[in-house]
Amino acid sequence: MGAMSVPSRIDLHTHSSVSDGTDSPAGLVRSAAAAGLTVVALTDHDTWDGLAEAARTAAGLGLGFVPGVEMSCEHLGHSVHLLGYGGDRSDPDWVAELARIRAGRADRIPAMLRRLAELGMPLTEAEVAAQAHDTPSIGRPHVADALVARGYVADRDEAFAGYLAEGGPAYVDRYAPDVFAAVRLVRAAGAVPVIAHPWGRDSRRVLPLDVLGELLAAGAVGWEVDHVEHRPEDRRDLRAYAVAHGALVTGSSDYHGTGKTHNPLGCETTAPDQYARLRELMGD
Ligand code: AMP
Ligand code: FE
Ligand code: FE
Ligand code: ZN
Repeated sequence: MGAMSVPSRIDLHTHSSVSDGTDSPAGLVRSAAAAGLTVVALTDHDTWDGLAEAARTAAGLGLGFVPGVEMSCEHLGHSVHLLGYGGDRSDPDWVAELARIRAGRADRIPAMLRRLAELGMPLTEAEVAAQAHDTPSIGRPHVADALVARGYVADRDEAFAGYLAEGGPAYVDRYAPDVFAAVRLVRAAGAVPVIAHPWGRDSRRVLPLDVLGELLAAGAVGWEVDHVEHRPEDRRDLRAYAVAHGALVTGSSDYHGTGKTHNPLGCETTAPDQYARLRELMGD
């Protein structure tokens, strides 16, 4: 392995309890070190609130840390997630856009609870708030956890499959910026935009390869290839297209603690050369 004696294990996409994960930011970083990772990014949904605690903990452990965020966006009405690494977190346009997305998250909760009540599964806002703890970025997973706590469903997966998934009987749309606009916004703030799980949950039709090419032209630098929701043939096609177009290729767990059990920390990782390129693009 050349001169490098310590193998790198780099995981660039994780969630803490500051959004819809279950570990505190400090706990997540400690678990990352215990799992043998050498670099971890925290990328909570639409908030940076966990970054300071995570960065402090990583520094104390000598673990590499990448500050990030996963922005909830859309393309032609379908949900698309955009990772933004580094950048100026005081950029007024970026700050305002994230606040607008978070407001849309909170605003739709009452409508979802009305749908659930009609389906015979009443829940109070307080029950959802109890599952959301003090997240500024409330989401469907917290509603799912409240459904589980009431015994209506067994776990988050059952809540999504039966009720909360896009198009499901309790699904309510919310504000999300167009992903092309979000890519430009992230770039303008000096951050590095990477498309999260472009073909996750069978969304291959939402972001076909030519649209990924257009996103590169708009300023995105690449996309996740190795992700638990990508099948082998998806990974093959996404990797080939990225290599042909000079796009960054990442691999990440999308860890959510006990909220999702199929993706432990480090189950997918990013190659060291791709990570070096990311750091360079971040201006480090
Ligand atoms: P929201 O942030 O309210 O749009 O909810 C989206 C989040 O819910 C995603 O980031 C995942 O963590 C989770 N999620 C989305 N779809 C599913 C699903 N089918 N099963 C389990 N979790 C899901
Ligand atoms: Fe999530
Ligand atoms: Fe995502
Ligand atoms: Zn994620």
